[in-house]
Amino acid sequence: MRSIPRVKIAHLPTPIEALPRLSAVLGGAKLFVKRDDQTGLGMGGNKTRKLEFLVAEALANGAKTMITAGAVQSNHCRQTAAAAARFGLECILVLAGEPPGESTGNLLLDRLFGAVIVWTSPAERDSTLQQTFDLAWENGKRPYLVPYGGSSATGASAYVFAIQELLEQGSHPDWIVFASSSGGTQAGMALGAHIFGYRGKVLGISIDEDRETLSERVASLANAAADFLGEEARLGAQDILVNDDYLGQGYGVMGEVEKEAIQLFARHEGLLLDPVYTGRAAAGMIDLIRKGQLRRDESVLFWHTGGSTALFADRYQSLVE
Ligand SMILES: *Cc1c(COP(=O)(O)O)cnc(C)c1O
Repeated sequence: MRSIPRVKIAHLPTPIEALPRLSAVLGGAKLFVKRDDQTGLGMGGNKTRKLEFLVAEALANGAKTMITAGAVQSNHCRQTAAAAARFGLECILVLAGEPPGESTGNLLLDRLFGAVIVWTSPAERDSTLQQTFDLAWENGKRPYLVPYGGSSATGASAYVFAIQELLEQGSHPDWIVFASSSGGTQAGMALGAHIFGYRGKVLGISIDEDRETLSERVASLANAAADFLGEEARLGAQDILVNDDYLGQGYGVMGEVEKEAIQLFARHEGLLLDPVYTGRAAAGMIDLIRKGQLRRDESVLFWHTGGSTALFADRYQSLVE
């Protein structure tokens, strides 16, 4: 494998913990969690692994500013802002949505990390991002565009190494289950599984896309990451396991099932999930266990991708009402 530039910002390897009380409450399977919510940078999460490679690429290009886009409560934007601060880079975030009266959750931290925020509407997100990038370039800010969700070949490569890390920890679960959205995490995991010979199943619970769209995106990102790493592996959409049964009322809308999953993890394991990603993925995992599609005798590793900062956003108050 080609060696690629990387900065060290994540606390690795992230711990793997057993979840015996939650397993007992659900009547199986054997549950474990991999704590990528504890990657250490600005409250952590899966984007921190990707940023080790993205920041290295930005620095190699002589960048002075990181620019990216996301939703108002984007974890990706928060971690990008923290990484920029850590390397003395400016950060500009293009956030799609209504500017709220108060900055809570991730938005509060974006501001604390010193990011400049440009507001736009969801429909105009891409064009505003392009304009913001062009303007920064004209103003001599040497911008580096961090892809949406950090999901480029460079960013996805981080999860190839995360699979290597898991196997080196001696963990070989029957299933790895996690939240999948922009696809970089799943692409890296699927490619890493292929390269390092992980024999279990890598199941992405889709947060906001239909199965066909997401599995095609993941496969093409995995192949781009393989090229980037100098690997010959090729994956097709049929090699990518995506479940899209849990899209609920759409992105960022916490329903009863997400609420139940968050409460079960909190009350039985003292573990925090988030309302947008891990709450939905855990709800899917719990449902698949109850239906017997993840069997009692199987081991299931829930790969925690972070995001619990969003619990402190005003809009999710109903969790405890
Ligand atoms: C971004 C994010 C994901 C999804 O990861 P992708 O690589 O975009 O698919 C999952 N969980 C959390 C908490 C995230 O912030």
